[in-house]
Amino acid sequence: MNQESEKQSMSKLRVRFAPSPTGYLHVGGARTALFNWLYARHSGGTFILRIEDTDTERSTHESVDAILQGMAWLGLECDEGPFYQSDNFPLYKQHVQMLLEQGKAYRCWCSQEELEAKRNVALAEGRKPKYDGTCRNCQEQSLDRPHVIRFKAPEVGETAFEDLIKGRISFPNAELDDLIIQRTDGTPTYNFCVVIDDALMRISHVIRGDDHVNNTPRQIQLYDAMGYPVPVFAHVPMILGSDKTRLSKRHGATSVMAYRDMGYLPEALNNYLVRLGWSHGDDEIFSVEEMITKFDIANVGRSPSVFNPDKLNWLNAHYIKHADPLRLAELLKPHLEKRGVVSTVVPALATVVATLQERAQTLEEMADRALFYYQSPVLYDQAALKKFEKAHLASVYESVVLALKDVKPACAADVDGLFKQLCKTNGWKMPQVGQPVRIALSGGTQAPGIGDIVMTLGIDETIARIERIREHIAKM
Ligand code: GLU
Repeated sequence: MNQESEKQSMSKLRVRFAPSPTGYLHVGGARTALFNWLYARHSGGTFILRIEDTDTERSTHESVDAILQGMAWLGLECDEGPFYQSDNFPLYKQHVQMLLEQGKAYRCWCSQEELEAKRNVALAEGRKPKYDGTCRNCQEQSLDRPHVIRFKAPEVGETAFEDLIKGRISFPNAELDDLIIQRTDGTPTYNFCVVIDDALMRISHVIRGDDHVNNTPRQIQLYDAMGYPVPVFAHVPMILGSDKTRLSKRHGATSVMAYRDMGYLPEALNNYLVRLGWSHGDDEIFSVEEMITKFDIANVGRSPSVFNPDKLNWLNAHYIKHADPLRLAELLKPHLEKRGVVSTVVPALATVVATLQERAQTLEEMADRALFYYQSPVLYDQAALKKFEKAHLASVYESVVLALKDVKPACAADVDGLFKQLCKTNGWKMPQVGQPVRIALSGGTQAPGIGDIVMTLGIDETIARIERIREHIAKM
């Protein structure tokens, strides 16, 4: 293929994410969306969002909103849609009619009880239960008696496809029964709607979870019967929890938005999700641009991946460390508000953020560590305080205050220089002065560098905090 025609055929690549709106956006769903989105972006194709809301009892508007919100947060914008299956009922009806007229579908009057009884017999005889075709050639046409409509599936041969991830998969047709395509109440069934939508949306590649592998042969038979081209399939292996069972709430949060609330950055979650099943050499860190350039569905592995929260934390820490402090400050605000710190101004908060970026794994953790800046008076960690309630420290604190007033440091390096000088003059070791000052300023011993704290608090507040603890000790 020459380059131009290759480009043209790639640009026809059309993929979709087709969530059922029955809950929040699950991390597994988000990964499916991400793989589709990346494949489209990589190939100059089109990414379509289709909400599969034909199950009117389980689908909710709240869930649609939650899914859209999750995708927006991850930055997985669609090129077409969202389309709603529930808008397509007339279309599905037309297709049922067409199949009936062509003799490719038939009405079935078998009652639930009859089917149940036959099923039990089959099970008792050790056979796989399957509709026995009673109504396939039935002459009865009493349309007012309750009935379903079934697809007349091929009875011999096999239905096979070449899965981009799993390789060739085939099913003997004898094992697939005549699928119900329209229920007694006139509503179309899931596999039928999916095929019509994918066909009419001209979806070229169906990338979805491998829990759908068993639906694929039925769907292929329907494509064939309706004369639509069959798309290429790629079934992505499941995500498992640490105990190797399918990832669920038992393993921790599974909702994408819960990760936002726990203080994860969207780029960290995307980076984490892309590596669940896909790899590119030994690389672990991928910017979105790199993911787009490097992603190929052919490099998705065949085995399931295990969700590893430690790795996600590691990636999140990486992205926090390298993020723009102003942006992080915006993102940190709600986490601080949750802790009662409400009057933060972003530019000032960015200075606070910059002192904490190096060590925080999540924004929640960062918010906890930022609290001391906003406490007035600062809350002491009582165990740490005990260690520093020593009479001789009163004079150490006094020397620090005098030096600060004298030197008026203008940057963190000035502060560090000041402390070095104090140590030299008084024959102290750095921790002998550093730790007491750290608890005076932050209430604990785990805090950013003193220079950073002093510059962030300002000299006046720094002095006030040291004076407070000095007076406390002096009174003892
Ligand atoms: N609506 C299906 C689901 O949420 C996806 C169907 C498909 O991708 O073909 O699992």
